Amino acid sequence: YALEDQGLEEQALEVLQRVFGYDAFRHPQQEIVNHVVAGNDALVLMPTGAGKSLCYQVPALVRAGTGVVVSPLIALMQDQVDALTELGVRAAFLNSTQDFARVREVEQAFLSGELDLLYVAPERLLTDRCLSLLDRGRIALFAIDEAHCVSQWGHDFRPEYLGLSTLHERWPDVPRIALTATATDATRVEIAQRLGLDNARAFVSSFDRPNIRYRIVEKNDPRRQLLEFLTTEHPGDAGIVYCLSRAKVEETAEFLSAQGIRALPYHAGLDQAIRAANQSTFLREDGVVMVATIAFGMGIDKPDVRFVAHLDLPKSVEGYYQETGRAGRDGMPAQAWMAYGLQDVMQQRRMIDESTGDDAYKRRLGAMLDAMLGLCETVECRRVRLLAYFGQKATACGNCDTCLEPPQTWDGTQAAQKILSAVYRLWKERGQRYGSGHVIDILRGKKTDRVTQYQHDELSVFGVGADLSEKDWRNVLRQLITQGLLAVDHESYGTLALTEDSRAVLKGERTLMLRRELAKPGKTRESSGS
Ligand code: ADP
Repeated sequence: YALEDQGLEEQALEVLQRVFGYDAFRHPQQEIVNHVVAGNDALVLMPTGAGKSLCYQVPALVRAGTGVVVSPLIALMQDQVDALTELGVRAAFLNSTQDFARVREVEQAFLSGELDLLYVAPERLLTDRCLSLLDRGRIALFAIDEAHCVSQWGHDFRPEYLGLSTLHERWPDVPRIALTATATDATRVEIAQRLGLDNARAFVSSFDRPNIRYRIVEKNDPRRQLLEFLTTEHPGDAGIVYCLSRAKVEETAEFLSAQGIRALPYHAGLDQAIRAANQSTFLREDGVVMVATIAFGMGIDKPDVRFVAHLDLPKSVEGYYQETGRAGRDGMPAQAWMAYGLQDVMQQRRMIDESTGDDAYKRRLGAMLDAMLGLCETVECRRVRLLAYFGQKATACGNCDTCLEPPQTWDGTQAAQKILSAVYRLWKERGQRYGSGHVIDILRGKKTDRVTQYQHDELSVFGVGADLSEKDWRNVLRQLITQGLLAVDHESYGTLALTEDSRAVLKGERTLMLRRELAKPGKTRESSGS
C-alpha cells in the first residue's frame, strides 16, 4: 500500500513537470495533491494566484478517469480549456453556450474515456441528462471551484451549489476537492456542512505576504507624490502603477517618462502588438515601470516586482489584495503604496450608482467598497485589517505605515454625536432625510433657503457644530460613513440614515477615535463641548 502511494506521489511530480512544465510544487500543493490522488476529500483555502488549479488538475491526470470540475465561471471555461489543450491535456466543457452537436461530441469523448478534465456549470451538472452521463463514465474526482458560492450568507451565493451535496450521495467513492480564495471561518464551516465534506481535510493557507509593506497616503498631488515615492524609494526598480482609466494610464506613463523614468503604458484599449511588446519588455528587462489598468497582471509571474502603486482606489479588498500581491513574489522586501482621497470615495460611489444591475448587486458593490474604505481609514495595523477581511488573525506587523508611524487620532465622539443627532432629529421630529450638505448647514447654523423654508433653524441641533469648518465636517462624515455609523442611500440622492451601530455612539456608550491625518479637524477645536 505504502509502495503504491509512493508511486502515485512520483507520478504526480512527473505530471507536474512533464505536462505543466514546472519544477516543483509550491507549498502546500504537494500535500493537497497527494491527499486527493490517494482518494480523499479536501477543502482548500488559498489566496488568488497561489495555484489552486493544479491541486485538482494534477490528481485528475494521475487518477484513472475524468476529473469533473464544477465552476460557476462559464465565461472562463473556454479559456481554461484552451490553455489546457495547449499543454496537451484532454479537456472540454459542457455549458449553455454550446450547440447540441458539440454537446454530443463532448459526451461521447467522456464516455470513451478520452477526457482528462471536464468543466461543467453546477446547474448543468444537476440535470438528469448530465447525472446519468456521469453514471455511465469513469470519474477521477470532483473539483468544486469557488466553493464559497454554496454559502447562503456570502456575497456570491448560487442556489445551484446547494444541489452539489448530491455528488457525495451518488458517488460516495469519488474524492471531492472544494476550493475557494475567499472564506471566513463561518463560511468554511458552512461549505463543509452543505457539501457534506465531513471527512474532508482542510488545507488553509495563510493570506499573509510578510515581505510586502503596506502604505496608504492621503492624496493631494498624486503625480508628484508618485514621482517622489519612485525616485526616493525605488530608483531603478521594476514595479506596477495602477490607474482606473486608460487616459490616466497614458498621461501618467508620459509624465514619468518625461521625468526620466522607464515607464510603459498597458491597457485593453492599446493595440495588441503594443501591449504584447510592453509586457515582454516589463518581464525581460530590469527596472521597467508598468503603468496599467487592472487589465494587466493576470498570469504575470515576475518575481522581482519591487512595488505596486495605486493612484486610484481599488473597488474591493479582494482586488487590492490581488493587485498588491504581484509585488515581491521573490520574498524580498517590496511595497504596496496607494494614494487615497475623498474624490476616490465619491468616484467609486458614483460608479456604483450608475452601474447597471439590480439593487442587490449594487448593495454588494457598496459593501465591497466599504470594506476597502475601512482598510484605508483604519488606525490599526493594515495587515491585521487585511487578513481579518479574509478571516485570518494576525498581530500588529511592524511592516506597514500604521505600525511604523502610528497615525494621530482625536476623540471625535462629540462631533459624531452632533451629526448623528441631527440625522436622528430630522427623521424623528420631521420624518425627513437629507444629504450631507444640508446636515452640515444645520450643524454649522447656516440660514440657507432650505433651512428657512423647513424651519430647520428651530431644531435643537441647529448651530451646535459651528466650531468646525465645512471641510472638517465632511471629513468626519466620511469616517462615520466608512465606519458604518451612518448609512448613505445613494438611490435617494445620498440621504443619510442612522445604522444599528449609531445608537451606541449617540448614547455615549462608545468612544470614537478618528484619524487626524486624513481628516484634519484643525487646531484643538474638537475638545470643545457641545
Ligand atoms: P489560483 O486559482 O489559486 O488563483 P492559479 O491556479 O491560476 O491560481 O495559479 C496562479 C499562477 O501560478 C498560474 O500562472 C500558475 O501557472 C502558477 N503556478 C501554480 N503552481 C505553480 C508551481 N508549482 N510552479 C510554478 N508556477 C505555478
